[in-house]
Amino acid sequence: MPVYCPECGGQMHYNSSRKLYVCTSCGLTLTRSEYLLLKQKQRRELSNEDEEERWRRDYLKWWLSSKK
Ligand SMILES: [Zn+2]
Repeated sequence: MPVYCPECGGQMHYNSSRKLYVCTSCGLTLTRSEYLLLKQKQRRELSNEDEEERWRRDYLKWWLSSKK
């Protein structure tokens, strides 16, 4: 899963010579631990979205069935 820059939304790439993750768009650099934190945070936000989506679907189903 790609990780996107917290500043501009560009994709982050690992620069092995500098041992840093670098944004391809704005040049923001992150250390490995900062990068991993960001990745965890983005994954959590993504799973929250799924949860919300599921809830909305269940609600819609309930709403449609209650109209019968
Ligand atoms: Zn950026």
